[in-house]
Amino acid sequence: MIITRFAPSPTGRLHVGNIRTALHNWMFARQQGGRFLLRLDDTDAERSTEAFVDAIRADLGWLGLVPDGEERQSHRFALYEAAFERLRAAGRVYPAYETQQELDLKRKILAGRGLPPVYDRAALALTDAERAAFEAEGRTPHWRFRLDHDAPIEWDDLIRGPQRFDPALLSDPVVRRADGSWLYMLPSVIDDIDMGVSHVVRGEDHVTNTGLQLQMFAALGATPPAFAHEALLVGSEGKLSKRLGALGCDSFRDMGIEPLALLALLARIGTSDPVEPVAEAAELLHAFSFDRFGRAPARFDMDELTALNARVIHRLHYQDVADRLPAGMDATAWHAIRPNLATITEAADWWSVVEGPVAVPPQTDEDRAFLAEAASVAEHIDWGSDPWRSLTTLLKDQTGRKGKALFLPLRHALTGRDHGPDMAALLPLIGRDRALARLRAAAG
Ligand code: GLU
Repeated sequence: MIITRFAPSPTGRLHVGNIRTALHNWMFARQQGGRFLLRLDDTDAERSTEAFVDAIRADLGWLGLVPDGEERQSHRFALYEAAFERLRAAGRVYPAYETQQELDLKRKILAGRGLPPVYDRAALALTDAERAAFEAEGRTPHWRFRLDHDAPIEWDDLIRGPQRFDPALLSDPVVRRADGSWLYMLPSVIDDIDMGVSHVVRGEDHVTNTGLQLQMFAALGATPPAFAHEALLVGSEGKLSKRLGALGCDSFRDMGIEPLALLALLARIGTSDPVEPVAEAAELLHAFSFDRFGRAPARFDMDELTALNARVIHRLHYQDVADRLPAGMDATAWHAIRPNLATITEAADWWSVVEGPVAVPPQTDEDRAFLAEAASVAEHIDWGSDPWRSLTTLLKDQTGRKGKALFLPLRHALTGRDHGPDMAALLPLIGRDRALARLRAAAG
């Protein structure tokens, strides 16, 4: 069973970077007939809020990336405690008493000698008496995971290929603070085991964590999941700007960006597949493969998103947008109007052109005479089938006008504008009565 998880910390809204990670986890699980889980990494009680938990759920709902299950780290402390005890009994976690200042000093000394800031494991060498002395001083230990230095850490990353770390060059990670609270690293491993996660898909900023976590899986007697680390997202000019990087679902929604446009873009940037508009997210699944992800950063370009948004809207099914359209706008009207939309809210504007009233720009005497003729032709055509074609064919024969001279005064009179949706699609929506009234009014 393929099981993926998206594990945001509820300390902020989802932004483009983590929406992309959520999407890839969702896509892989859906494609494989597996499960996609949401795990709320809320061990940081001070920074996590209920409002962000709700916003994450709502944003995933808006995007259509609905999880098959949800876990919350703050509800799972008993599980962490039990695993921690096992590791402690096995000597894989150990107490350390250094203060932050002492650790900073050690790092400075190493840096002065040109050495990497690897923890020296002084705490491992403490005798019982030394530990007791620290505790008598009022120091409470934090806890480190003891890395096994015997063999290199290796895995075959689904995106990055073979990875190899020398554990001796890594610090034993702190897994628990002196106040008993948990850092992200160990609970994540305990959860991935307990939730049966088969694939961890996350950003490449976690690559070193994976090295450390692989040893935690082993220490807990578990087979690790497969790992796929995606290249980071950058903006069109390189680094993802603070503003762009912080853009959340709410900002995209306010700009009129469709969730599907965001998904279509984030599904493909950084892969060898082209960015293409789709009418539903399921269309994105067939091409999904970790093999197609590149190592180079994925470029997120707002202009590309805006352009894609329009192309996505031009494909959206009526039933998927009906509840966001003005009252009375039916499927036929949607199909007539959607090719002209850059955002769905613009539909209301074109619908007001159908329903009227319209303000017609001033016409020359010649055009007014032409429009009067158009009004009388329009009275006699068959409105049941392609009235625009009948109207313009007859008028062309009668007046000799063609091209712009034929079409533009009609468009002005019927819509009050000089551009817009295809008149052949629009005129039946305007209908006989309104059309006649508008032509007559414009003829003066
Ligand atoms: N809460 C972690 C983060 O947002 C999760 C990383 C992971 O996927 O394991 O970075």
